Amino acid sequence: MRIATFKSQSVNNERHIISNIFLKDLIQNYKSLEKNKSFKNNKDVKIIYISNFLKLNTLEFNELIENPIINSLDTYSTKTGKNILKKSTKKASYLFFIIELNSNCTIKDGKIINNLVNKIIKKSRKTGISIGFNIKENQKYFANIMTSSKDLNDDIANILISNLYKTKYAKYSYIYDKVCEKLDKNFIINNYCDFRDNKCVANRDTDNIERDNGCCHSFIRNKSIGPSNSTEELTLCKHLGDDKRCTIKSISCKFFVCQYLKRKGVYFDILDNFLLRSIFNRKQLDVIHINFFKTEDEIVKKLITTEYNLMPHKLFILFKMHLIDNYWKKIPEKK
Ligand code: SF4
Ligand code: SF4
Repeated sequence: MRIATFKSQSVNNERHIISNIFLKDLIQNYKSLEKNKSFKNNKDVKIIYISNFLKLNTLEFNELIENPIINSLDTYSTKTGKNILKKSTKKASYLFFIIELNSNCTIKDGKIINNLVNKIIKKSRKTGISIGFNIKENQKYFANIMTSSKDLNDDIANILISNLYKTKYAKYSYIYDKVCEKLDKNFIINNYCDFRDNKCVANRDTDNIERDNGCCHSFIRNKSIGPSNSTEELTLCKHLGDDKRCTIKSISCKFFVCQYLKRKGVYFDILDNFLLRSIFNRKQLDVIHINFFKTEDEIVKKLITTEYNLMPHKLFILFKMHLIDNYWKKIPEKK
């Protein structure tokens, strides 16, 4: 796996005015990086420039820099995408992305970037074009990302890196891990659950005082008695380790927040997650939302099989097609 290095910086409103000149310098700098090494000439490198705010005069720009490929996300269409794809992989040895986004960047922009980068990288591989420059042994520098916030920068970087993986399983696993890492970090920094003597804050502050281990419980249906809810028993999740840590990485569990915390304003909506929304469709997001107690491998495989599911969304939910096994285990809620 190639290691990607990114140069990131923030976009501020003043910079937009000089962006044209800045961009020219930037591109020339990248080209000179490899000038004395493997570039035959400037035309050997294709720069894919993607922005949600910059509208450059293409003709004027072409006089300044050879072979730029400029895209303005607000005027993006399938036709534009095809043209960019055609131009980006023609007569070049190296490919490099420059992505500049201001705070108006939308989920739609994220989806376009994912789609475009995915297609360009796939086509480049087929035509033997190298993605990025070698700056050190086994280290490629293939994108410069400038956005309005660190979070957006990280999300765009993760979209780009995920597209370097050759299989869908590896790409989805990468995104899955990044989202889990961020959620874990958030819970640790803010200490939302505040465990003491193995009792979380909700366990301590509600009438469920007897219960420990937070919400790591599931309802198991007693099949010998019958299917009604009254036959369900609360049981400790089988994935909770002896050290009281989760032994699997269930993204659905990580997004789960109990009613107690919700009342205190702690809430994570999958639909607000820029990275997930840029990569996955609505049905895949449902898969991520609902599959508690499932392993990463199970969820990633389900995401792959769901990608091209043609069933209408309502039927998809009604027939529980979003579940890994067609058996709904409920997370107990506190009063
Ligand atoms: S989410 Fe709620 S119930 Fe679960 S561990 Fe945290 S505080 Fe406890
Ligand atoms: S799978 Fe979910 S419920 Fe089970 S131990 Fe892990 S986090 Fe807790």
